Amino acid sequence: MKCFLLSIWIALTVLAQSTLGQNFPVTQGKVYKFEKVADGVYYATGGAGSNNVVIVNDLDVMLVDDGSTPAAARALLADLRLVTTKPVRTVVNTHFHYDHTDGNSVFGPEVEIIAHQYVRNAILNFDVMHREPYLTSTGVLPSQIEALKKQVEQERFADKLALLTKQLSDADALRAGLKEVKPVPPNVTYDSKLVIFKGSREIQLLFLGRGHTGGDTFVYLPKEKIICTGDEEEGSRVAYMGDAFFDEWIVTLEELKKLDFNLVLGGHGMPFRDKAVITAFQAYLKDIVEQATALRKQGVSADDAAKRVDLTKHAKDFPQITGPGAEVRGVRRIYEWLAEKEKK
Ligand SMILES: [Zn+2]
Repeated sequence: MKCFLLSIWIALTVLAQSTLGQNFPVTQGKVYKFEKVADGVYYATGGAGSNNVVIVNDLDVMLVDDGSTPAAARALLADLRLVTTKPVRTVVNTHFHYDHTDGNSVFGPEVEIIAHQYVRNAILNFDVMHREPYLTSTGVLPSQIEALKKQVEQERFADKLALLTKQLSDADALRAGLKEVKPVPPNVTYDSKLVIFKGSREIQLLFLGRGHTGGDTFVYLPKEKIICTGDEEEGSRVAYMGDAFFDEWIVTLEELKKLDFNLVLGGHGMPFRDKAVITAFQAYLKDIVEQATALRKQGVSADDAAKRVDLTKHAKDFPQITGPGAEVRGVRRIYEWLAEKEKK
């Protein structure tokens, strides 16, 4: 179960696709697909790691997140030429995880890389390439590639074979691209709110409280009523929970719902409009924390608790839930977080 959930998480990360696509004009690059969700605003999917948001302003471009590798960021910049010739001058890292920040190294000093101050501290001090989520998510790639090779050999149906072949080449490219990774911290930080005016565009960077990590940014376009949520909120996907602050996450999502928006662009998964989707994730978080807390009280280990928690009643909101169990790193983090709270 552990490996199964993990490989789904990685496959979705590699393949991130959006289905609201039918509603928006699409420009397909070599790697990235750009959906035009508003004037000058594009949702870019299909590369290694995060989905990205491209905000084209009067003179220049802002990117929200930049993928898992320098190669992913370069592919994004190359494909971007299909929708604008303006230069990228600003990158926002929604949080410190490698799949949102490891494209940072391709940008020169003329580019402001902006994030919450927690992100700079994390990239400088957390030894990010020797801890989760980088360690396991990239460490399983060789065995995932071997498994995909076997599946490709055995697959008889053409459409499934095409999908598996694409997964295999994406995984191969990711493994090669990771060799080049040098974590680079943001060069501009803020601590609660930063409002950027780019010509006629207003862009708000908002820290609404701890949640998915200790320092996640929402990128909010108030005029367009669009919010970019990073991994705080991924729609019908359960976000990675290995660095979470669970009770605060639920409160932060409540703060998020108070904002006026009608389109949510997550760091993974698919765009959505309905705030009930956020409420469903709050319910999932509350449930997994309650179940893990009860198991911990009974003396069950975190790894066993990860097998025993049963979130299947949330499967209607999160299709990746196919049976009992949850991603082990998230449950280990719940245990660690409960211990941290007891010390206070
Ligand atoms: Zn993340």
